[in-house]
Amino acid sequence: MAALKTIGLVGGMSWESSAHYYRIINETVKNKLGGLHSAQCILSSLDFHPLEEAQAQGDWETVAEILATAALGLEQAGADFVLLCSNTAHKVAALVEKRITIPLLHIADVTAKEVSRNSIAKVGLLGTRFTLDENFYTDRLKQYGLEPLLPPAKERAQIDHIIFAELCRGIIKAESKQLCLAIMARLADRGAQGIILGCTEIGLIVGQEDTATPLFDTSAIHARAAAELALQP
Ligand code: GLU
Repeated sequence: MAALKTIGLVGGMSWESSAHYYRIINETVKNKLGGLHSAQCILSSLDFHPLEEAQAQGDWETVAEILATAALGLEQAGADFVLLCSNTAHKVAALVEKRITIPLLHIADVTAKEVSRNSIAKVGLLGTRFTLDENFYTDRLKQYGLEPLLPPAKERAQIDHIIFAELCRGIIKAESKQLCLAIMARLADRGAQGIILGCTEIGLIVGQEDTATPLFDTSAIHARAAAELALQP
C-alpha cells in the first residue's frame, strides 16, 4: 500500500465544525482501508475570537495573515496539502496559496464538482453574510456552470446570526432549525434543485433527513475529498 498523504487542516473556524471534519476524514480512510487504518493529519486549530473580530471589521489582511501563517506551519510540519475548514475563510484563499508551496484543496471546487455530478445546475446557497453578500464564492461556483440562488437579504442576516450566535458556540435551537428549513423550502420553490450548506456549521442543525431537496454539506464534502486525495497513490 502506498503511504497515505498527510492532510493539513486549518481549523477552529469554528472548532464545532472542525470536530466534524476530523471524524469524517478518519471514517472515510477507515471505510476504504479497513482494520485500524486512520488518516494522517495535522490540525492547526485557531482561536476563533480574534479571527472572527477581524472578519467582522472587514480586516481581511489580518485574516489572511493568520490563515497563511497557520497554513505555512502545516507545510513546515509535513502536510502534503492543506484545507481551510471554513467557507468564509476562502475569501482570502488566493493570498494563503501565495504563501505556501503545497496545494490548497478549495472548498468551493470540491462542492461544485459534487453538485455537478448530481446533474444539478440551479442550486441554493446558505452561508455567512461574507459568503453570500460577496462574489468570491458564487463566482467560483459559476466557473463550474452552476447557477447559485441566494436567500433575500433579511433571511441572509437571520442565517448569519444563527451561525455566529448559536452554531459556532455549540447551541442548537429547534426554532432556528425550522427557520433554516423554511428558507431552504423557499429556495426550492424558486427553482433550486439542491441546496449547498455553504457554511461548515449548517450541517450541525439541518440534514438530508429533514428535507427531500438534495443537500450538499460543504464540511462533509470537503472532508471526504481530503481523505480521498490522501488515499491517492
Ligand atoms: N465556518 C463558517 C463557514 O464555513 C463560518 C465561520 C467563519 O466565519 O469562519 O463559513
